[in-house]
Amino acid sequence: MNDLKLVLIGPPGSGKGTQASRLKEKFGIPHVSSGDVLRSEVARGTDFGKQIKGFMDRGEIGPVELITSVVLDFIDRECPNGFLLDGFPRTLYQARKLDETRGVTAALYISVPEDIIVKRITGRRTCKACGAIFHVLTSPPKKEGICDACGGELMRRSDDNEETALNRIRVYKNETVPVLDFYREKGLLRTIDGDGTTDEIFSRIIEAIGQ
Ligand code: AMP
Repeated sequence: MNDLKLVLIGPPGSGKGTQASRLKEKFGIPHVSSGDVLRSEVARGTDFGKQIKGFMDRGEIGPVELITSVVLDFIDRECPNGFLLDGFPRTLYQARKLDETRGVTAALYISVPEDIIVKRITGRRTCKACGAIFHVLTSPPKKEGICDACGGELMRRSDDNEETALNRIRVYKNETVPVLDFYREKGLLRTIDGDGTTDEIFSRIIEAIGQ
């Protein structure tokens, strides 16, 4: 089971990160969030991190070839067998590169109506320590500001404000929607209705990948 190679695609705030944690738990495959890989470069203050910080703050893609090779190297290092990618591929260029190197078993497209995306993004809170995701309205932590899973401090990601969220949605439409056609043409796209509870969406994913 741990040689499944899955990619999760969906607009920002579609629940990719939340579903990725559940899938990781169920199948034991490594979860790679390209956003987390890049945020860690920024946090460590590497040259690469300094180069991409401004793009990330604005919700833009940045130097795509460089970012692609950093993320693909990370995947090769950390995921010799299967993987679960979240946030990658984000452009047609990245989809082609992934296809040339590792390929995928299925691309899971989490489809969510646009009007609920912005609300989801701006209410999102993320644990600084373990990355667990909460929402102030729909899945609040038991104790405000504290992670249920590890007791860490919850924060709002700096790019989870309304202005950047709108920009990220625009970038998604221009750059990432063509990736859906790429996988559709290969017969690998599975569309999941992303409107519902975490459990409902998770069951739909399991059904879609036939597990
Ligand atoms: P995410 O955590 O997936 O919402 O990504 C946060 C930000 O990181 C994005 O708005 C981009 O600036 C950057 N980013 C994440 N993944 C990629 C990628 N595959 N290619 C280029 N930039 C990315």
